[in-house]
Amino acid sequence: MNPFTFVRAVSVENALLLHKDHAAGKYLGGGTNLVDLMRETIEHPDTLIDVSQLSGAIEEQANGGLFIGAAARNTAVSEHRLVRTRYPALARAILAGASPQIRNMASVAGNLLQRTRCTYFYDDASHCNKRIPGQGCDAIDGFHHNHAILGTSPACIATHPSDMCVALAALDATVHLRGGKGERTVPITEFHRLPGDHPDIETVLEPGELITAISLPRMPFATHSTYRKVRERSSYAFALVSVAAALDVQNGLVNDIRLALGGVAHKPWRAFKAEAMLKGKPATEANFRAAAEAELAAATPLRDNAYKVELACRTITTVLNELRGESA
Ligand code: SF4
Repeated sequence: MNPFTFVRAVSVENALLLHKDHAAGKYLGGGTNLVDLMRETIEHPDTLIDVSQLSGAIEEQANGGLFIGAAARNTAVSEHRLVRTRYPALARAILAGASPQIRNMASVAGNLLQRTRCTYFYDDASHCNKRIPGQGCDAIDGFHHNHAILGTSPACIATHPSDMCVALAALDATVHLRGGKGERTVPITEFHRLPGDHPDIETVLEPGELITAISLPRMPFATHSTYRKVRERSSYAFALVSVAAALDVQNGLVNDIRLALGGVAHKPWRAFKAEAMLKGKPATEANFRAAAEAELAAATPLRDNAYKVELACRTITTVLNELRGESA
């Protein structure tokens, strides 16, 4: 690990000023991914700006939505009464990720910013465009059993590892940011980038910009939401495919739906096409399957990850069938 300086921010304004003084620094939340990356010398900030003492409050908004401070620990979010009752997909997604010890440490903002677990990214003897732009991608002809099938590029086929972000994508979350130019908000579906020619640039964050909160809109039918994670062992493994969904069925028809996938792309994949196909249609297994196939039609699997196409179709269909039973 390279030497670094540690400073603690006492407010958002203070954090921004500290970053201005230490442009090669990084904000530190729970450190559950960043410190690992520093140990592996993949990340080498000269300063860690601790923002873990900033707001982690979880509060209901006047419009019925929920506001979650960026420093909220994953465990606190998953255990919050309003999260469990109004957005169960989010509580389940967080509980599907990592270990209790890591969830106790990891922050909401850090969860958004965690980096891929592609093996080659962590191995400096390998070629990786995300670690060193222009170097090449050893995963494309190598070990890519658990890599992306949607939105890939010739430069990178990595997946985003978060479970929580998949639920946030399905639940129309908004990311609140503060930077040198002031405050702004970004829909979570636009916060993470697809790899394109620059897989090293993973989000739309500007240099020095800080995530201050996440908000969730009021969504009454999200009480009928869930998260299903398919993985190679029952704990402490990243998703092969995951599905977050909320479903509102009225008189046998899909009145409203939110659907997002994890483990299949460089970002949480919101299934807009499948949602559009299903709205107003009979809530039948055949229609769920057809919508899943339409969403996955754009998949570009490689030699060893084509199984994810069928796995995603089956998981979407199963999850929507289960939610139909709850919602009808
Ligand atoms: Fe690097 Fe992406 Fe290729 Fe993995 S898939 S080796 S992260 S460029």
